[in-house]
Amino acid sequence: MPTAQPSELRFDSQTISARFIDPSGVITEQIIEIRTSPITGRTCRISFSRIDEKEPGTESLPQPPPDADKTDQCPFCRPQVSSKTPQLHPELATSGRMVLGDSLLFPNLFPYGSYSAVSLFDNTHFVEIGKASEDAYANCFLNSSRYLAKISAHDPKAVYMAITQNHLPSAGGSLIHPHLQINADRLPANHQRILLQRANRFHQQSGSYLFSSYVEHEIAAGSRYIGTTGSWEWMAAFAPEGFFEIWGILPQKTSFQQVTVSDWGDLVRGILNTQRFYRSLCRNGYNLGLLSVEIPSSRLELRIVMMVRSNYAPWVRSDHTGFEVVLGDMTTFNAPEQTAQWARAFFSS
Ligand SMILES: [Zn+2]
Repeated sequence: MPTAQPSELRFDSQTISARFIDPSGVITEQIIEIRTSPITGRTCRISFSRIDEKEPGTESLPQPPPDADKTDQCPFCRPQVSSKTPQLHPELATSGRMVLGDSLLFPNLFPYGSYSAVSLFDNTHFVEIGKASEDAYANCFLNSSRYLAKISAHDPKAVYMAITQNHLPSAGGSLIHPHLQINADRLPANHQRILLQRANRFHQQSGSYLFSSYVEHEIAAGSRYIGTTGSWEWMAAFAPEGFFEIWGILPQKTSFQQVTVSDWGDLVRGILNTQRFYRSLCRNGYNLGLLSVEIPSSRLELRIVMMVRSNYAPWVRSDHTGFEVVLGDMTTFNAPEQTAQWARAFFSS
């Protein structure tokens, strides 16, 4: 955690260099930037020397995965979804699965927490990055938030909530059929615990909301700011912990139950804009997610985090190395300011 006063947002960065004789015999100096997140105090690195390195598997958008047309083997495809997936406990819902438009929500057969569910977009088995139906995506989020409202009513102590997506196996997805994961628990995950502490301490000391203040700073600074979709403000993360990390912040809203139907639609427009940007980089895998702590005293506003993951294609290397695993500093290769510059074109319409 940072030693700076929590009431001030600090955008710290330092530059270090590595000197060596390159293979052509010339003494060279390579620059590495270390940035500290104003939100968490965590550091990350940008290794600029790899920026021009074309990663294997990103020459073009990879072909669809081998199981892209194997709908008969997919437990999320109709008609087998009704016999191959579990149903909600009767204490939670009178119908075993929750339906909203084409979205279908049911418990996760392999739960990660006390309340662990899956929400399908619709019956489309494989959707390429950036090609999802806006309506289906928005209904999927809305279905997820209605499930979380049921949890709040059923178990008011299960306040630590999240909605996430893993697109393709390289991002952790076990089934390619598009779906969101929903989680609620009485115990916080690391980010819920740390971000709640930070946001509430910031509010106590400054009277301001942490992410709202962050947005104000980023709009004024301009270099990482991307644009808006409705009330959502989009920007490249100052200190990314993933490749091409982009945030969408919904200022002053601290609960999933404060998000309106039109807010969910606006969120999906930003998500799809970001995916089209990722697609332009020939990337096919991504993670996204939102978390909240559903208590009245929470000053932790809603923020979606999106990042590219290693492509799902043969012989692609992982985006996590020993450096990330052992030292805990993510190393990316390009400046967030460049990410924002490239992404803006996809938010301009
Ligand atoms: Zn399917």
